[in-house]
Formats: sequence, C-alpha cells, structure tokens
Amino acid sequence: MTPTTPFWLAGRQATGDTTLDVTSPWDAHTVGTVAIPTPAQIEEAVASAHAVREDFAATPAHTRAAALDHVSRRLTERTEEIARLISAENGKPIKWARGEVGRAVSVFRFAAEEARRFNGGDAQRLDTDAGGQGRLAFTRRFPKGVVLGIAPFNFPLNLCAHKIAPAIAAGAPIILKPAPATPLSGLILGELLAETELPAGSWSILPVPNDRMPELVRDERLPVISFTGSETVGYAIMDSVPRKHCTLELGGNGAAVVLADYASDQDLDWAAQRIATFSNYQGGQSCISVQRVIADASVYDRLLPRIVAAVEAQVTGDPNDEATDVGPLVGEAAAQRVESWVEEAMTAGAKLLTGGERDGASYAPTVLTDVPADATIACEEIFGPVLTVRKVDGEEAAFAAVNDSKYGLQAGVFTHDLQTAFRAHRALEVGGVVIGDVPSYRADQMPYGGAKQSGVGREGVRFAMDDYTYERVMVLTGL
Ligand code: NAD
Repeated sequence: MTPTTPFWLAGRQATGDTTLDVTSPWDAHTVGTVAIPTPAQIEEAVASAHAVREDFAATPAHTRAAALDHVSRRLTERTEEIARLISAENGKPIKWARGEVGRAVSVFRFAAEEARRFNGGDAQRLDTDAGGQGRLAFTRRFPKGVVLGIAPFNFPLNLCAHKIAPAIAAGAPIILKPAPATPLSGLILGELLAETELPAGSWSILPVPNDRMPELVRDERLPVISFTGSETVGYAIMDSVPRKHCTLELGGNGAAVVLADYASDQDLDWAAQRIATFSNYQGGQSCISVQRVIADASVYDRLLPRIVAAVEAQVTGDPNDEATDVGPLVGEAAAQRVESWVEEAMTAGAKLLTGGERDGASYAPTVLTDVPADATIACEEIFGPVLTVRKVDGEEAAFAAVNDSKYGLQAGVFTHDLQTAFRAHRALEVGGVVIGDVPSYRADQMPYGGAKQSGVGREGVRFAMDDYTYERVMVLTGL
C-alpha cells in the first residue's frame, strides 16, 4: 500500500476522511493515493485565504520574490524525481516530463523577477485639461482578492505553476485545484512552498472532487477564477458566475500552414519533422499540438510523404524509456474517443495513411487526408496523436482554412517571406502566430491565450498578474 499524500491547507499538510488512487495510464499501477479535503477543510482554506488577503498584498516584494526563487531552485534540484512523477501519473514520456519541470523552473523565476518590478506606480498629469489643473493621478495595482486556480491534467506541474506563481508575485492568495487524474505533480509544489516564509493562508493546494467544485466556484470570497481545461467546463464555470473575473484557457485544434515559398528539400524536411513531433508530443494532448496541416498545392505532394515518414519514425511505448516519443493517452476512455472519431472520419471518406490502431490507452500516431469538413475530427479538438493534412491553393485559401474553426489558440506558418508573415499575423484569428515553426511553441513569459472559443484573457506570468489585480487611482490635489 502506498502512503497517502496529504494536501495543503492554508500552507500546512492535512488529510481528510477520503482518498483518491492515482493510477498510471501506461501499466495501471497505483502511483499514489491522495487525501481529499472535506467540505469543512475546503471552507477553512477559503476563510484563511480571505482573512489573509490584505496582509498578503502588503507582504514586501522581496519576501514574495525570495519564496518564488526558492521554489524555482528546489524544482531544479528535484527535477529528476518530479519528472518521474509527472511521467508516472500522466503517461508523458520522461524526456518531455523533464522539459515540463524545466518550464516550471522558469515560471517561478519569471514570477520572482516580476514580483520585484510589479506595482511600481505610474503618474499621469491631469493639468492637460483646465479642470485638472493642480492635480496628478497616481496609479498602483492591487489584488482583486483570492484567486481560484483550476488546472488540467496535461501539464500537471507547469499549468499549476502558471496559476500559483503569478498569484504569489502579485500578492494575491490562491486556492489551487489540480486535475483528478494528475494531482501528485501539483501537490509537490506544496512541499516547496512550505519551505518558504509565505504567510499561512496565502496558498492552499486542494484536490477538490469535481462535484464539489460548483459550490467553490460560486463562493463570493473568490472573485477571480483562472481556469485551464476544456471548453465545456470552462464556459459552464463562466456562465455560472457571470459577475466574476474569469480567465479561460481552453482547447484548440492547432493548424500548421506550409506555404509555396517553403519549398526546398531542407525546408520540407524541417516542416515535416516539426509537424510529426508536435502532433504527437504528450500523445497529442496539448492545447497547441498540431492537429491540422494546411499545405499549398505546390508543396503538398513532396511534403505529405515526408510527414508520414516522420510520424512513422516516432517511437511509441513505455514513457519511462529515454527513447520514447509518444506514450499512452491519459486513460483508455480518451483513446477510445480518438479511435471513434478516426473511424467516423474514415466512414465518411477520409484516407488513413498511417496509424489508426488502439492498444488500451495507447493510440498509434496517425495521419489522415481527405477528411470531410464536417467530420468531428475536423471540427473538434482531437487531443490525441492524430494529424489531418489538407491541400489548398494559395495563401488566402490557407489562412481562410485556419480561420474555418470555432477555435483560435495558435497557428504556425512555414514561410520565409516577411510580408507574408505580417499578413498572417493580421489575418489569422488566433492568440498567437508562430512563423517558421509549428503552433506548439509557448514561452512562459509571453502573453498566451485564445481567440474565439479557445478562451478569454491571457496567461504568461506578467499577464496573469495583470489579471489577478486591478488599477486603483489616487488623485493628488493642490499641486
Ligand atoms: P477538464 O475541463 O476536464 O478539467 C480541467 C479542470 O477542471 C480539472 O481540474 C477538473 O477537475 C476541473 N473541473 C471539472 N469539472 C468542474 C466543474 N464543474 N467546476 C470546476 N472545475 C471543474 O480538462 P482536462 O481534460 O483536464 O484538460 C484538457 C483540456 O484542457 C483540453 O481541452 C485542453 O485543450 C485544455 N488546455 C488548455 C490550455 C490552454 O492554455 N489554453 C492548456 C492545457 C490544456
């Protein structure tokens, strides 16, 4: 029997009266057992965070920055152990899990840096109008209140980091809720935060069961909700609390466009290799993984076989193996859903070029062409290792194809032409355009988020801090 992993209530370890077993999607072994908070414990965490909010906002920047630097350092020291944990509970290949820890290291470091320079104050002269003569407006940002951070399973450490680190940097208390399939990676952050001097009550990490979440979401002491997860759950949350500040980081069906000028053998080899890697990394379970390739007709016939070869070269299997590129999906139900969507597309006329096989929770890297526009796989987020490739005539048709989607998270455009790059930036209805690469690039300090139904608001350390705070003006008179 594995020992029970406690949760973090107002900065200290606690256990409740029930537990949750966390199982490996690869071999179904029990990775850990997590304590679940009782309703009274959830109430205690919220009440403590609410009570400490003014004191926490007034905590000196150097104290908060030192705590964030400490977590960053300790994550570096514990990289291998934490990467193994991510890999075990999520099924992510170990090399990608190490990369995720590295990103969380950066998120805490960026947050420490931002904590030091945030909220410096900004003065605006008001005497540009006669009514403002002798007056000056001075602005500072203050936390809106306690943040409720809700994280998904696919980056179980780094997306928890993206909630908690900016909150600490901004002086906003936070209740963080990790995903039920992968709570252990998020709870590790508690061990590191508990080594700091942050005030009790300023942070809690609670694996609250989904059926208790609606009540927590509605709690008026939690005015800010920062949610990363599916479109269905995200919009249901926002609809249930229309007067709260909600940031929603939702799904996507990332497109990679390969244009006519990207035509040398070297260009096409690079594009195919990047597309194959980033349609399959995390088993395709990334909101910005490549799901759609939109290729100009002039390069299509040379690009397609390269993509198929690069996809077939992806090494599938045990996430613990250093060589593995693609592990299992988060569970068998997820793989069954992917299988059914591929079958539906093939029944409607799609051609399978490689893959299309399921083994338990694992799904083979798959490439499809001739997918009808109304197939589920063409319209929804697949969240699996499946790529659809489509031929178009010219840049305008390519950009229209990218925009022909309810989602708009990021797009990648393979071109060398600067004018084309600027046209893509203007035309594509997405939160981010990556030129010369796939859409799957996220730097943790840049603004990140979606257009259309991919979300509301922006993350990225500084942008989350803006989100958790508001500007308060002080008008000085008689100057
Ligand atoms: P999910 O929506 O099922 O769950 C996300 C979180 O919401 C989990 O912690 C879950 O326990 C919680 N939750 C479930 N029901 C809830 C309720 N009624 N009230 C409040 N919280 C509730 O998503 P998932 O399957 O964990 O993650 C996959 C999704 O996340 C994909 O759609 C993916 O695109 C998206 N995602 C988006 C980004 C981004 O930054 N845009 C990043 C990663 C993942």
